[in-house]
Amino acid sequence: MKKLIDYKDSIRKCSKCGLCQAVCPLYKITGSDCTVSRGQFIMLKGVLDGKIKLNDKVNRYLDLCLKCGACSKFCPSGIDVVDVISAAKYEYFKTHKSERINSFLKKHLIFGLLTGIAGLFHKKSKSKNFQKKVLYFGGCGSKITGTDSIVKLLNKMNIEVITPNFSCCGIWAYTSGDLDTFNKYIDSFISEVKKYDIKEIVTSCASCEKALKDYIRHTEDDAKKEILSELNIKSIYSYISENKLTIKLKKSITATYHKPCNTFDFESIEYVLNNTENLNYIKMEDYDTCCGLNILSDLKEYKIASKIFANKRKCIEKSGVNIVLTTCLGCVATLKINSKGKYKVFDLLEFLAKNVE
Ligand code: SF4
Ligand code: SF4
Repeated sequence: MKKLIDYKDSIRKCSKCGLCQAVCPLYKITGSDCTVSRGQFIMLKGVLDGKIKLNDKVNRYLDLCLKCGACSKFCPSGIDVVDVISAAKYEYFKTHKSERINSFLKKHLIFGLLTGIAGLFHKKSKSKNFQKKVLYFGGCGSKITGTDSIVKLLNKMNIEVITPNFSCCGIWAYTSGDLDTFNKYIDSFISEVKKYDIKEIVTSCASCEKALKDYIRHTEDDAKKEILSELNIKSIYSYISENKLTIKLKKSITATYHKPCNTFDFESIEYVLNNTENLNYIKMEDYDTCCGLNILSDLKEYKIASKIFANKRKCIEKSGVNIVLTTCLGCVATLKINSKGKYKVFDLLEFLAKNVE
């Protein structure tokens, strides 16, 4: 498990060019360098040099970062800000009891409960001779909402869906610095996946896909690395587009789409949006700007959060469409909470399954 000190070279690689400011949704609202990667790296360099304490003030800025990764995609020095911030959060986490209590509550009351409920949703493919088999990673939330949908959709395409008893992907633990818990999620995933002789794993949530693909980077054990390296993890949309599977809706529907920050393969999602018969897809302005999910639960930052939400709402309203599709359950919840009744939000997989002919 990497510590903040292990990112010393990454932090020093920051040339202070400021390109991250142009793409950071948070900086656009606050105008404060402390809320964008350049300023965060200056602060963290001070922490590493012993000039600044990793105190509540620094932690506030670490928490404010949306962990959207938009800056990393444009950073000429190729620094992964989410990795660096998670390592800094881990340092803070270890020395602050309140953070550990917070994480304990999230683990047991929110994600633990969701995973427990999700365990009841083990829909099986109807027995017949399917052409192919895939494992579905539903995590916690998407197992509840996505299992029926993925079974219905892929069975129609002659593909069997196996639904193992996977736990939460643990991305929340990673971004909040509880790296010990994150590693436990990795172990739980490996022990479940080992029970099956199927290497193809499909997900329907962008955050789950990101976490699963990142597991190998955060694993030091060679045997675990080998198991993870043999897996072919992809989103249901990459799977549909690679296999040129076709979907037809029962009736004509017009919808727009919000791209979650953790999306790996947007081309495949656009393929599905553009090639689903009877779906009239309207691309919205700033379709790829963060919805503000990571700031949603922090009531202290309500002012900043409400500006992020208002920007997103403006883009949706400008598209002139009142159905918004997206591919991350966190984004579904954030967009729904902030819709003010002006549009409806659906997970793309559920929407397709519900409306397929
Ligand atoms: S874009 Fe990268 S190198 Fe430039 S200031 Fe931001 S973090 Fe530093
Ligand atoms: S991860 Fe997103 S919110 Fe955080 S500094 Fe980068 S662009 Fe800004």
